[in-house]
Amino acid sequence: MRFSRGCMRSLGLVLALLLAAPDALLRAATTGPQLPDPGRVSITREQQQQLGLKAAAEVYKQMPILPDSDPLVQYVRGLGHKLEAVIPRQYSWPYQFHVVQESDINAFALPGGPIFVNVGTIRAAENEAELAGVMAHEMSHVYMQHSIKGAQKQGTAQGLGQIFGAILGSVLGGPAGALAQLGAQVGAGMISMKYSRADEAQADAVGAIIMYKAGYDPHYMARFFQRLEQQVGPGGPQFLSDHPNPGNRVEAVSKEIQDWPPRTYHNDSPQFAQARQEAQNVKAYSAQQIQQMAKSGQIHNTSSPAGDGRQNPADSAAMGNVTLNQVMPNGSYQAYRGNGISFRYPGNWQVMGGGQSLTIAPPAGVAQDAVAYGMILNSLNGNAASLDDVTGQLIANLQQSNPGMRQLGSLQPIRVNGVDGRSVDLSSTSPLRRAGASEPERDWLVSLAAPNGNVVYAVFIAPERDFSQLRPTYEQMLRSLHLQ
Ligand code: ZN
Repeated sequence: MRFSRGCMRSLGLVLALLLAAPDALLRAATTGPQLPDPGRVSITREQQQQLGLKAAAEVYKQMPILPDSDPLVQYVRGLGHKLEAVIPRQYSWPYQFHVVQESDINAFALPGGPIFVNVGTIRAAENEAELAGVMAHEMSHVYMQHSIKGAQKQGTAQGLGQIFGAILGSVLGGPAGALAQLGAQVGAGMISMKYSRADEAQADAVGAIIMYKAGYDPHYMARFFQRLEQQVGPGGPQFLSDHPNPGNRVEAVSKEIQDWPPRTYHNDSPQFAQARQEAQNVKAYSAQQIQQMAKSGQIHNTSSPAGDGRQNPADSAAMGNVTLNQVMPNGSYQAYRGNGISFRYPGNWQVMGGGQSLTIAPPAGVAQDAVAYGMILNSLNGNAASLDDVTGQLIANLQQSNPGMRQLGSLQPIRVNGVDGRSVDLSSTSPLRRAGASEPERDWLVSLAAPNGNVVYAVFIAPERDFSQLRPTYEQMLRSLHLQ
């Protein structure tokens, strides 16, 4: 199924305008803190993402990174996606999460989305909320585009456009040299992204909102940083020299959140305890060891920065090579919870996207604007219209981005964990191309009248000939779907 992000958004917007009741608008105003407008910079989003990917590739040459298959990486990615899910899509980035086999406490973010967390940081976190705090803080630097804004402020000799060209052209010292213009130092087994104290205060503030929305007490972010200050002597770990203390972080967070509506936090999880155990056992090196390894050419990573399936999206034509083996669920399940929705999904699939709009899919089954295997989950403001009407409108909108899509049969009533819904099969054309030929696709649409007045809908997608193989998994995912 093809979908354009803009299209999905405008669909939501149109329905919201058609259906919004005044009380829905009032509710929106009292739902707690909103993430700020991150502002504009002088290079495009695509250029920022390309910059970040270039730099991430450089990091993979300089530092030992755990392979994508490692349970610790899977855990950190799950946590990252949970945080990402609360960021409004129009401001979000294709965040990706990597774990560096370094025992020192550090984490860093690159423009456009790549985030690296050291094993030492996971070992040092006392609960999931502290680790989420470090990650939310890094994600906020990306969100606010701090490294790009920093370079603009410095008014470096070359314009940003030239820097960008230099990075892509690998001149002027290559990616490392050009990234230095962005306040980053990459090379010989280390990377350093230095931020101003003002940026730090802002990343704490934005990070606190992300944590609150994802169900973590924002104080834990500040407490983790504060503990770092207390534990180490002058100089401190790299993290503190890159992220200078803007003042009393705990007090600042307390002040920021004092007027937010109270909520229940879930600051820990059994998964975190297990991940921390794994972090104790995984091989990790000191920063000095890594520098030696990089200098003597001993860094050999098995995964690449494109390994989490999103940052190097195959175009639709390249999806022809996908085999059923690459996308079949591995039999285990993991849990997703966020934005009033929880469900379980296959252990070897990923949750992508953010806000109300998620794609849950095997990395090989998605391209930038198309899904060949997986589930799309989205939500609309459904106030004042019948579920049949909203579902009919939804199908009409899906047909606009998928010409030739047909509805197979009428809407059937369905109940999912006590919630009324409608179920209908659709037939369309798969984005997969085999031997240059297109093939038919089955799309199973389920719409649900959420308790908060929204309509949540899921589309389960697979090529027609594979759909029966995936159906038991899709039914399992639907049975696990709970709306709060
Ligand atoms: Zn920072």
